[in-house]
Amino acid sequence: MRRIAIVGAGQAGLQTAIGLLKNGGYDVTVFSNRTADQIKTGKVMSSQCMFDMALQNERDLGINYWDETCPPVEGLGVTVPNPEKPGEKLFTWAGRLSHHAQAVDQRIKMPRLIDELVKLGGQFILEDVGIADMEKMSTAFDLVLVAAGKGEIVRIFERDASRSPFDAPQRALALTYIKGMEPNTPFSKVSFNLIPGVGEYFVFPSETINGDCEIMVFEGIPGGPMDCWGEVKTPEEHLEKSLWILKTFLPWEYDRCRNVRLTDDNGILAGKFPPTVRKPVATLPNGKKVFGIADVVVVNDPITGQGSNNASKCSKVYLDEIIARGDQAYTEEWMNATFEKYFDYAKTVTNWTNSMLTPPPAHILNLLGAASLSQSLADLIANNFSDPSKFTPWWFDAEQTEVVIASHMPQVMN
Ligand SMILES: Cc1cc2nc3c(=O)[nH]c(=O)nc-3n(C[C@H](O)[C@H](O)[C@H](O)COP(=O)(O)OP(=O)(O)OC[C@H]3O[C@@H](n4cnc5c(N)ncnc54)[C@H](O)[C@@H]3O)c2cc1C
Repeated sequence: MRRIAIVGAGQAGLQTAIGLLKNGGYDVTVFSNRTADQIKTGKVMSSQCMFDMALQNERDLGINYWDETCPPVEGLGVTVPNPEKPGEKLFTWAGRLSHHAQAVDQRIKMPRLIDELVKLGGQFILEDVGIADMEKMSTAFDLVLVAAGKGEIVRIFERDASRSPFDAPQRALALTYIKGMEPNTPFSKVSFNLIPGVGEYFVFPSETINGDCEIMVFEGIPGGPMDCWGEVKTPEEHLEKSLWILKTFLPWEYDRCRNVRLTDDNGILAGKFPPTVRKPVATLPNGKKVFGIADVVVVNDPITGQGSNNASKCSKVYLDEIIARGDQAYTEEWMNATFEKYFDYAKTVTNWTNSMLTPPPAHILNLLGAASLSQSLADLIANNFSDPSKFTPWWFDAEQTEVVIASHMPQVMN
């Protein structure tokens, strides 16, 4: 039996732990600084909308427990307000997803996965892991995976400056979980609104601790009017501020919110962090190596809603490589090679996500505008959220993007 320690009970830690246990041949211990109950009764941490490719990893492991209950996300649409005419849209479109996306509140998902871990014979230990604890683990276990997300402990992994173009937060983030919003028609979707110079707002259906809800995500450009959460002190004020943003910049979204209320007092979040890629291997004071996974090594801004998707995909790559490693030692070379296998995919997601954080070049504005004239282009953009590597290479090249646009435009007869 190989002994594997995993620090952190989030998407990556638990998916990997369950994958190893279901494979057999692994003695798995997950260390978490929160009990299942604390996760369930704590604050929301994410909006966690996952697309088909990531959901398939969960189906493969048999942990897709919410397929019947979670309201499906059937499409993805983009709206840009008209800067010349306040209150009007410049353009709007909605692409249809060929497979639904799904956002299950991590407050219900992680406790259920912890239950499954224990049922499969894994150990769950409550511990706020520090460096000294990891030193102990590094001698007692064959491999220590650090899946601590954005926790303090991840600072032991060096920032990779060559892969991290930003050294400061690019957006002021906020989440508001609400009930009572008017649903989108004719199909449910991630409704993404891009407000030039101000920020972005997207919203979609989800399943939370008390049934169905909608999750509002606010991405405010630093120093702008949506970077406004510092003065907010109570859940009521948080909801008020959320509605003020919609009323001011996106009246069509405000119209859907005439009768909304918070799901619960913990259904809110505000914060900031810099998007960062880190070196995947950290050396402890005792010279032993620990291996970072998911957000620990690649944390992107939530603007493209890819973090949980990436965590699932990173977990899948690591799981396959751990199993393929058999009885051989988990060396630093193996860790670096395993991470590069993941980053081969994640680098496009990172570059594409980062490209959304700076003012869009003309060809991307053309692309987004053209999707309002072509359903097949709208569908293509929406479906690529499941596998954003499909945006490569054309998204980053004006000429190639124009070719893609032209190939989706209705033929004009002479
Ligand atoms: C505002 C916002 C909106 C988002 N929206 C989306 C979205 O729509 N779609 C999407 O795919 N992603 C989204 N994400 C990102 C997504 O939530 C994360 O990328 C994903 O949860 C990362 O998974 P993980 O397993 O790496 O880390 P996490 O889910 O963060 O799990 C880490 C776990 O480790 C524990 N931990 C931390 N430190 C320690 C320690 N020292 N000892 C023990 N345990 C520790 C934490 O308590 C936590 O439970 C969003 C994020 C934010 C902030």
